[in-house]
Amino acid sequence: MLRFLGLLTANSGVVFLLALVMLQACGTTTQQTKHVNASYTKIWINGKAINLGGDLTFKNLVILEEALQTLQKHAPKSVRSINSINFINNADHFPYNQRAHAFFDDICLYEGSTFYPDGSVTHVEIDLETIWHEVAHAYTYILGYRFLDEWIAIAGNVYQGERYGFYREDYEEKIIAGVVSAYGLMNEKEDVAEWVEEIYSYNRGLGSVFNDPKRIDKSDPRFLKKLELLYKKEFISREIYEKIKPLLR
Ligand SMILES: [Zn+2]
Repeated sequence: MLRFLGLLTANSGVVFLLALVMLQACGTTTQQTKHVNASYTKIWINGKAINLGGDLTFKNLVILEEALQTLQKHAPKSVRSINSINFINNADHFPYNQRAHAFFDDICLYEGSTFYPDGSVTHVEIDLETIWHEVAHAYTYILGYRFLDEWIAIAGNVYQGERYGFYREDYEEKIIAGVVSAYGLMNEKEDVAEWVEEIYSYNRGLGSVFNDPKRIDKSDPRFLKKLELLYKKEFISREIYEKIKPLLR
């Protein structure tokens, strides 16, 4: 494990892959839930150091590594927009219902169990989708209002604010209004992050609206326009853009 940590601090994607292979070689589930040495506080992605904080398990380090390497390949500017990623196991850190957030270049991710008085338990784990979503927020902060104004010009008057964003079950049947999830109806920033999350999930073979393009209202030109803007602003590579485009026509 010490050697593994040494490799992780090296500045090379190839070395990183080696480290992952080593982790898998020794990776029983007990190993994976072990915690990373507290002195290990940075992850290097192509010369960019990202500070890591909080309670980091090996399992989450592997997930983080994959999420960031994918972005490094398809959206390197978005990786450079992050300064730190904190792994938080205290739900009180987050406002109600929130399990991750990005504040400028700092990202916080929650993992843990919540025990309710009625005896029920919900367990939240960190996944690739959440990391892609939060990095999209951080990168949106860097791009600023010039990007968001362009986005809103395409989106139109669809955002419903925090109160209504969660409650659109009908939305899951038909994907309409240029917005890829009900959560994206909350505001333009969530809309952008949901788009990025759905695109990278599709690219990785995970659950995504793009797996079922029949549900998408393709008569609405906003879908294609938003995809084009995400490509123009370098949230996605040409390769991914070309993969999604046929699904929206
Ligand atoms: Zn969000």
